[in-house]
Amino acid sequence: MKGRLLIGGKWVDGVSSETLKDKYRGEPYGEMAVASPEQVTQAVDGAVRGAASVLPPYKRYRVLLEASRVIASRAPQLVDLLRDEAGFTRADGDNEVARCVQTLELSAEEAKRLHGEIAPLQAGDGVANRMGFTMRFPRGVVCAITPFNSPLNVVAHKVGPALAGGNAVVVKPSDITPLGAVALCEALLDAGLPPELLTLVHGDGNAIGPQLLADQRIAFYAFTGSTRVGRLIQQAAGLRKTQLELGSIAGSIVCHDADVDRAIPRILNAAFRKAGQVCTSTQLLYVDRRIAAEFTEKVLAAAKAMTYGDPSDPATIIGPMISEHHARRAQAWVEEAVAGGARLLLGGQREGSVMAPTVLAGIRRDMRVACEEIFGPVVSIVEFDRLQDAIDQANSTPFGLSVGLFTSNLHAAFQAAQALRFGGVHINEASSARVDAMPFGGVKDSGFGWEGPGYAIREMTEERLITISH
Ligand code: NAD
Repeated sequence: MKGRLLIGGKWVDGVSSETLKDKYRGEPYGEMAVASPEQVTQAVDGAVRGAASVLPPYKRYRVLLEASRVIASRAPQLVDLLRDEAGFTRADGDNEVARCVQTLELSAEEAKRLHGEIAPLQAGDGVANRMGFTMRFPRGVVCAITPFNSPLNVVAHKVGPALAGGNAVVVKPSDITPLGAVALCEALLDAGLPPELLTLVHGDGNAIGPQLLADQRIAFYAFTGSTRVGRLIQQAAGLRKTQLELGSIAGSIVCHDADVDRAIPRILNAAFRKAGQVCTSTQLLYVDRRIAAEFTEKVLAAAKAMTYGDPSDPATIIGPMISEHHARRAQAWVEEAVAGGARLLLGGQREGSVMAPTVLAGIRRDMRVACEEIFGPVVSIVEFDRLQDAIDQANSTPFGLSVGLFTSNLHAAFQAAQALRFGGVHINEASSARVDAMPFGGVKDSGFGWEGPGYAIREMTEERLITISH
C-alpha cells in the first residue's frame, strides 16, 4: 500500500518516499510519501478553504456513520495492515478496528447533539427583558498529530469529533505507522466526505511538526504522544487551544479482598496487550502483602502461558514491539533493575523487536522501570501493607492518566478513588479499561482535555453567547 498525501482534495506524491518495513520480519509492506514544506503549506491552505464551508450537522452525521460502515467492511484488510504496520496480533488488530468503527459511530451521533444552553441572565438583580443562550461553532482548522501505537483508532478519536463539530482537519500521523491514517481518510472520502474538509501530510515529526505548529491558521491541536512533544506543542500553541493526551505510568492496585479471578486476566491484558505499548498499560502492579505470594504465583502461571512472537500466527497473544530499538531499550531497563537488586520473576529475554513478557519484583522507586514510562511488555509487582501506601506510590509519579483498583470493599474503593490523582480511576478493572464513549484524559504530565467523542467535540468547538433584549 502506498501512503500518499491528501492535499486540496487529491491524493498526491511527496517530495520523496520512504519504504515502510513490517515490525516483526523487517520486510517492506508499503511506502510513505514525505511532504515538502510547500506541500505542508498547501495542506493548510486547503484546510482553510475547507473550513469556510461548514457542512450541516445532519450531513456530518451521515458521512461519519457511513465511514464507520466502510471501515467495518474493510476489517480483514485493515487487520492485516495493522499486523505489518504496528506488529498487532490478530486480537490487537480486531480490537483496533472494532473500536475505530465505534469511535466513528459515536462521533456521528455527537454531530446531531451539539447544542448550547440557556444562560440564566435574570438570576442577577435588575436584568429584565433580556435573555441569553450559547451556541457552539466550529473552531476552523483542527490539526491532529498522532502516535505510533494506535494507527487507526486514535486518529479516529481526533478526526471523528473534529468533523462532527464542523471543522476541517489536517492529519499528521506517526511516520512509523502512517498507513492506518491513510486507510481512515480513504474510508471518509468513500463515505462521501467533501474532500476539502480533510488533508493528510506525512513526515518526520521533527521536520514537518514545527511548521504545522507555527502556522497560525490552525486553531486547535489535537495531540496524542509523548510528554516531551506535548510540551513543544503547548509552547507553540500560545493562546490557541489544545487537547494533549500524553505519557503515563499506569498502575493497577489489588487489595486483599479483591476478586483475584476477575483481576488476573484483566491485569495481564493491561500489561501485555499490544506488547505493553498502550498509554494505560499496567506498568506497576501494587499487591497487598497478605495475598502477594499467592497472587504472584497465579500471575506468573498465567503469564507463562501467553505465547509471544510472530503476530501472523493466530496463536500469538503478545506481538513484537514497534522496533528493535524500542525493545532493546525496554530490555536494558530490565537489566539495569536486576543489576540494582530487583528480582526477575519471568522473561527479560529479547529477540529482535520481540520482548518476552516480563515480570519483576523488589524494584526501587528510583529505577527506570518504576519512574519512567517503559511502553513495553514489562510489569513490576510492588507489595504494600496499607492501601494508603499504594495510593501514595501511585500518586508519586509525575503522570496521572489511568489507574485500576480491585477490591470488594465499596467504602475503600470510594475513598481511594477520590485520593488517586488520575484522569480515570477504574474500580474492579485494570488501568487500561477504556471504552471509547467515556471521557478519557490525564492530569499532571499526562496532559489535559478529554478524548471520547461526546467530550472532544466540546473541546473542538467554540461556545459563544448571544443575548437578546426586548
Ligand atoms: P511521539 O511524541 O514521539 O510522537 C507523536 C507524534 O508527534 C508523531 O506523529 C510524531 O511524528 C509527532 N512529533 C514528533 N516531534 C514533533 C514535533 N517537534 N512537533 C510536532 N510533532 C512532532 O510519541 P510516540 O512515540 O509516537 O507514542 C508513544 C507515546 O504516546 C507514549 O508516551 C504514550 O504514553 C503516548 N500515548 C498517550 C496516549 C494518551 O491517550 N495519553 C495514548 C497513546 C499514546
